[in-house]
Order: sequence, then structure tokens, then C-alpha cells
Amino acid sequence: MVQASWLNNLETELTRWQQSGLTRRLREVQSAPGTQIVLEGRPLLNFSSNDYLGLGQHPALRQAAIQAVERFGTTAAASRLICGTLTPHRELEEALADWKQAPAALSFNSGYSTALGVLTTVLGREDIVILDKQVHACCVDAARMSGASLRVFPHNNLDALERVLKWADQRNSVRRPAVWIVTESVFSMDGDRAPLKELVVLKERYGACLFLDEAHATGLFGANRSGLAAACELSDRIEIQMGTLGKALASGGGYVVGPRVLIDALMHRARSFLYSTAPPPATAAAAGAAVEILRGSEGEDRCRVVWERATRLLALLKELAAAQGLPKDGLPQSPGSAILPWIVGDESRAVALAGYLLDAGVFLPAIRYPTVARRKARLRFSVSAAHTDNDLDQLAIACHKAFGHFVRSTP
Ligand SMILES: *Cc1c(COP(=O)(O)O)cnc(C)c1O
Repeated sequence: MVQASWLNNLETELTRWQQSGLTRRLREVQSAPGTQIVLEGRPLLNFSSNDYLGLGQHPALRQAAIQAVERFGTTAAASRLICGTLTPHRELEEALADWKQAPAALSFNSGYSTALGVLTTVLGREDIVILDKQVHACCVDAARMSGASLRVFPHNNLDALERVLKWADQRNSVRRPAVWIVTESVFSMDGDRAPLKELVVLKERYGACLFLDEAHATGLFGANRSGLAAACELSDRIEIQMGTLGKALASGGGYVVGPRVLIDALMHRARSFLYSTAPPPATAAAAGAAVEILRGSEGEDRCRVVWERATRLLALLKELAAAQGLPKDGLPQSPGSAILPWIVGDESRAVALAGYLLDAGVFLPAIRYPTVARRKARLRFSVSAAHTDNDLDQLAIACHKAFGHFVRSTP
């Protein structure tokens, strides 16, 4: 039988991706996704997880999830506004609001659907949304979906942002458009931070609002680990903060915090909230338990360990780069978060390096277009409080081998 033309088209496209070194496939992890994993039958040291505080295997979270299953079963059985709001959802949202020192909180099925729901509710077609060039795909998609006029400023470039704010300010319209700046506190592929204080001063000067995605900062910054906004004492000057429950909070779902009116509006209008089955009660219960741990002294200890690991890992990579004669400018100067990118540039080279590391027993991803810009491919190391000193020693040995191979195999 002749293959249908829509399938032919897809196949042609896939071939093009293959030829550009952009092939992807799903790889099965047959163990808990901790620091040691079994990937397709092979035991590997894992530096690719977003479970920064290592809470995914924590007895308190497991216990909370198990108890929720025993009390509520496996499903929320309906969307939140029908009968899907169960006790763990309410408790989680109260804990999040209290932790983030916000009037109210709402949880969603994912960080992705949080951004979609919030930005499409807040922004109208007549409004203006200004994105940092490096924001996560969910913020880009949400901004597009909102229909607002979209502008992008170069990553963390406040002068360029100010030029867009001036342009927005001068636009004549019957109703003054709302102007929203969308950025992240820690950027997911670069691991660097936004200059929050300066951003807040700037947006206040122009009467704009700030939407901050704390996905990679939650759990790592601030006196109670609630994020960078709190660490910079800016929580009450940032209009909306969101984050995910799937990274440091070691569960799944997303959240937003802000004024009560915002939360009420989301319950009426955010389509990704309204038309989706509520997250399973066990997921909400685990996230609630994570918040409790993060706020307390155990969270403080784990957070300190993450920073120690990140500092040591970066020193180790710089040493390696120097020893192998590789350019150091692909590495950050200091760790900005638990994410350390090593920008290699060429897609195929990044894949080759990740392959050599895999051969040496270490799993970490080569991040490529379209997740990052073309020719900005990188190795992305994520450290966790669950990594031991021995894990880092092993990583050093593996990297030494892998980079040696790499240097010898490339002209
Ligand atoms: C991971 C991530 C999200 C999406 O969160 P999910 O819960 O995984 O859907 C949103 N924003 C940023 C910056 C992220 O890194």
C-alpha cells in the first residue's frame, strides 16, 4: 500500500532533523530517577535530574503520597470545579500561599499549563507582553496564545527592555494597554539569574507589571527556600509568580501565587485549569509534604549541600577544560543555580560528548535546538543534594575520559 502523503511529509521532516544531528528518542529508566539510575539496562550516574534537593525518594513525601492514595484513591475523578478539589489540593494551596507570602495560590496540572492559564487570563489582545529571549517555551506559547502584542528583549538586557517599555509607553490608544514583562528568576538552559531588583525598579518606573517564573529557583533561594523573589525581598513588588511542583518540590503540577482577585479570575477563566482533570490527590499531597520540608531546617541543610555541589562541579569542569585545552568560555563564571551548562556550540559535537560520557557511565543530556538556539548546543549538568562526594569524583574521572576521546576525535 502507498503511504499517505501526510505521513510522507512527516518522514521527510524527520529525515531533515536526523541530518542536522537533532534526532531524539525516548529512553527508558528502569529504576527510581535518582542520582544512580538504570537506563535501558545500564547502571549510570545521573546528572540530568531536576530533583535538586533529592526529595523524590524522601520518606515523608512517599508517605504523604501513600496516605493520600489510601484515603482518596488514585484519581481526583473530575476537574477542580466539579468534584476534583480534594483536601490535599486545598492544603497544598494554603501551604504555597503561606510559604510564598502571597495572598492566595492556585495549583495546576503542570507548570506548562499554569503559564498558559495565567497569561491568557491576564493578557488581552490590546495589551503588550515583553519576553526575555530565553524564557521557557510555556511562556512563549502562552504569550502567543493570549493574542497580546508580543515583543522580545535580548536575554537580561535591561537597556533593550527599557527601549521596548518606552515604545509601549508612547502608544496612543483609547485604553492604556497593560504592559507585562515575563521572565524567569533562574533560566532553565543557562542556569543564570535575572537581575530582579533592577527589573522591578524599571517596570515600576514605566507602570508595567512583572510575571516571574520561579521554576528553577523554588527550593534554592531565600531564607525559607521559596525562591529568588523572596531572597531579594521583592515578593510584594512582583505582581505574579509561578513555578512548577515537578522540580525541587519532587512531585508534579504547577502553581501560581498572587492577589486573591487573580486567583478568582483564574478559577473562572483559565481554560487549562477549568477543562482539565485535577491532579491526582497523591501528587498534591507529596508536593505539600515537600513544602513543609523545604521551609524547615532539613530544607536549609539540603539547599546548602546543593550549592556546595554546584561550586565543586564548576571548579572541576574548569580544571578539566584547562587540562584538555578546551575553551573555558562555554562555562559560567560562578554557579548561578543547580544548573551548569557547558556550551559546546555544534549540535553533533554536543551529542558526541554526551555519548562519550555515557560510555564512561554518566548520563546527562546534550541540549539542542529547538530547546536552545541553533549552534548553542550544550551539555547540561544538574546537581542535587543527593549527589555524594564520591559521585562527583566519579564524574571527574568520566569527564576526563570523555573529553580526552573528544579532543582526540575532533580536528
Ligand atoms: C520546567 C519548566 C516549566 C514547566 O513546568 P512543568 O511542571 O514541567 O510543566 C515552566 N517554566 C520553566 C522555566 C521550566 O523550567
